[in-house]
Amino acid sequence: MSETVDLKAKLGLDVFKPVAIPHIKIRPGMEKDPRLKSAVRICPAGLYSENENGEVVLATIDGCLECGTCRIACGIEVLDWNHPEGGTGVQLRFG
Ligand code: SF4
Repeated sequence: MSETVDLKAKLGLDVFKPVAIPHIKIRPGMEKDPRLKSAVRICPAGLYSENENGEVVLATIDGCLECGTCRIACGIEVLDWNHPEGGTGVQLRFG
C-alpha cells in the first residue's frame, strides 16, 4: 500500500539555509512592468506581492524553491536571477 503526501506536507520537509545576499532581485525601475505581475500568481512559494501602488514587491527570498518559474515567466530583463551562494538556499527533501 502506498502512502500519499500532499504538496504542503512535502514542502514542509524542505530545509532552507539563509541567503546572505538575495539571489533574485527585481531590476530597478521594473516594479510596474506587466511581465512582473505574473510572478505574483505563479510563484509556488508565494514570495511576490503587489502593493497599493501597483508595484510588485519581492519582500523576502526566504522560502524560495529555486524553481526558476519567475525567471522564465518574467524574463531576465525584469529579474536579476541567480542561484544562491553554495551551501545556502533550499535543500529539497522529498523528490
Ligand atoms: Fe518563486 Fe520559484 Fe521564483 Fe523562487 S525561483 S521566487 S520559488 S518562482
